[in-house]
Amino acid sequence: MDQYLVPPGSDLNLNQWDPNDKSLFPISKKEGKLLLKDLNKEMERLQELLFAQGKHKVLIVLQAMDTGGKDGTIRHVFEGVNPQGVKVASFKVPTPVELAHDYLWRVHKRTPAKGEIVIFNRSHYEDVLVVRVHKLVPEEIWSRRYQHIRAFEKLLTDEGTTILKFYLHIDREEQKKRLQSRLDDPQKNWKFSRGDLKERALWDRYQSAYQDALRETSTDYAPWYVIPANRKWYRNLVISTIIIDKLKSLQMAFPKSEDSLEDITIE
Ligand code: ADP
Repeated sequence: MDQYLVPPGSDLNLNQWDPNDKSLFPISKKEGKLLLKDLNKEMERLQELLFAQGKHKVLIVLQAMDTGGKDGTIRHVFEGVNPQGVKVASFKVPTPVELAHDYLWRVHKRTPAKGEIVIFNRSHYEDVLVVRVHKLVPEEIWSRRYQHIRAFEKLLTDEGTTILKFYLHIDREEQKKRLQSRLDDPQKNWKFSRGDLKERALWDRYQSAYQDALRETSTDYAPWYVIPANRKWYRNLVISTIIIDKLKSLQMAFPKSEDSLEDITIE
């Protein structure tokens, strides 16, 4: 899976990452969907263990261009998990109260507690992405945020949080197809907004902002993965596998009961 990892300190060039790659699972879509069912079961098992043990905290960050597939990833990769232990935190345009605080204030509050997996649907990275592209603050302000973000994520990992960050990599052509289907399919009309076209016109500026953010903030303690995401089934398989590998590496075990239970009889 390290093939999709952004090595810390590397000179990442997103143009060189193929959003159609399927080299890790050279199988058909149908086979891919079946394999995901098995991975879903494994995820369910590991998440139950995480919840029961109540020791580890897991933070998953999802970022993507519009239509990149954040919602679909959450739906498919976490299908079947116990909703008690998994939360989704979506970050929208900040409210006046949020804007009256520093940009990490609203984020820190939603990080996982022991036993939880929290999925960030957008995140603090918006503060070096949309904020930069739309010049919502001057460069001298957003450019020092990389350093804050590295320090913030170090704090979280030092205090026992495991962090995985996924950039869902689609190309401009794929975005066009997905926007078009939102226009054509009445059941998808609700997902379309005219604003999406304005954002699409800023594609290159967003790509530069992503490239810098990924270069600056992929660390050994909170790595970024660039996930080929033109094929939804492949994207789901890769993300699911990376998360499962990470959960397994935590070597979790069910907690032992406090007393010996051998002498108990239930009438
Ligand atoms: P999504 O596209 O994630 O499904 P929305 O359509 O509600 O959800 O979009 C959320 C919007 O909030 C996005 O346009 C995103 O750029 C914006 N946003 C998120 N965080 C910030 C931020 N810190 N500053 C400005 N805009 C933000």
